[in-house]
Amino acid sequence: MSHHEAWRSVLPAGFSWPSGVRAAACFTFDLDAESGLLFDHPEVAGQLDVMSHQAYGPRTALPRLLRLLDRQGIRATFFIPGFSAERWPDGVRSIRDAGHEIAHHGYLHEGSRGADPATEERRLLRGFEALEAVAGVRPIGYRAPNWELSYALPAILARHGIRYDSGLMDADHPYRLAVSPEPGAATIVELPAHWALDDWEAYNYLPGLTGSGVIGSPAEVVARWTLELDALVPEGGLFMLTNHPFVSGRASRAAALEGLIEHARAIDGLWIATCAEIAIHVETLDLPAVAHQPPVLPEG
Ligand SMILES: [Zn+2]
Repeated sequence: MSHHEAWRSVLPAGFSWPSGVRAAACFTFDLDAESGLLFDHPEVAGQLDVMSHQAYGPRTALPRLLRLLDRQGIRATFFIPGFSAERWPDGVRSIRDAGHEIAHHGYLHEGSRGADPATEERRLLRGFEALEAVAGVRPIGYRAPNWELSYALPAILARHGIRYDSGLMDADHPYRLAVSPEPGAATIVELPAHWALDDWEAYNYLPGLTGSGVIGSPAEVVARWTLELDALVPEGGLFMLTNHPFVSGRASRAAALEGLIEHARAIDGLWIATCAEIAIHVETLDLPAVAHQPPVLPEG
């Protein structure tokens, strides 16, 4: 293919999937539990009703989801805040023991807005310590709480052995992310995600805290996700679905999710894998590094 016909390929330059693979899908679960609200709303620590809503994830939904994944014979990636690991150690160990990947999701699910690099690094290390203490796991993957990423964070992640991030929104395919624009800067793998493939907005409602009170029908939500999966396959893309046990582990939502997984398993050439498996494949590719830089605002 000559260079001026590169646009004819649906895949970015240098990108390929393993032999026989057309596209890939990751089913991921963020075990936010209580921590998903406590950083932004510390007052809810004293509100039993709100805490019980979040506890549904590890207490009730997680065993259901682990049974579902076992029935379907797929491995998922669980992004776990350190605080959730310390509060629900048996649940986190059950994820590990079922063979799923455990990845980093902050300590108290801290958003990065306004945090300086030293603060971001301190939270990252505290998350590592909790996952190590509870599950003996040293994750290679990171997902920023609320998908909030500062320009400084990728370099901090790389310095502490994180090999992939999942949460930037500028691509349909994994790519190599340079941690700074400097020549020769370290790189990690980016596994892009998107709000439309997240269950939080579709389903979640807690009065005064999150959601509009319009709660999506599982049939409609999963139909929307299925449209995106079916459209990404011919594009050779990565379908990155982000669910939360306390949200999507409710009975009818889990049943609808299982239907989507069955649909995905029936797609010829679709690789259903953990984020780590995808990232390790992408590390073998000779991809140009993408360096993000903030736009310079005009004066005046
Ligand atoms: Zn989260």
